[in-house]
Amino acid sequence: MHLMQKKPTVKNPPEQFTGDVYLDAIASPQDDTQRMVVAKVRFLPGARTAWHSHAHGQTLHITEGVGLIGTRDGVVLEVRPGDTIYTPPGEEHWHGATPEDFMEHLAMLDNAADPASTTTWLEHVGDADYHRP
Ligand code: MN
Repeated sequence: MHLMQKKPTVKNPPEQFTGDVYLDAIASPQDDTQRMVVAKVRFLPGARTAWHSHAHGQTLHITEGVGLIGTRDGVVLEVRPGDTIYTPPGEEHWHGATPEDFMEHLAMLDNAADPASTTTWLEHVGDADYHRP
């Protein structure tokens, strides 16, 4: 075994996120047989991802605050610590904090064979789609 010391927190890029979103990497593939990627992601109030989908789906586990997760059918879920949300492969969605709360989640997903195609990024989430349920 070996200890993997904490890496610096990184701020997620404005091309793919609205507002301030910070990521701490937790796990990534250590050899060619592995695909698992895990990160802790913190959203300031009002911050959210752009619309996107994941080639092999994604599991989100809420650890702090109050979050919102939306899909193209207009459904927006309000989620709290202890909740786990699964989005299947290819389902377009967004996730973030509410306008009034911070939110932290663990994001867990498997890399695609080409890691660059693991997540497909789309347009930002406008105010019409970003709202509490
Ligand atoms: Mn996602």
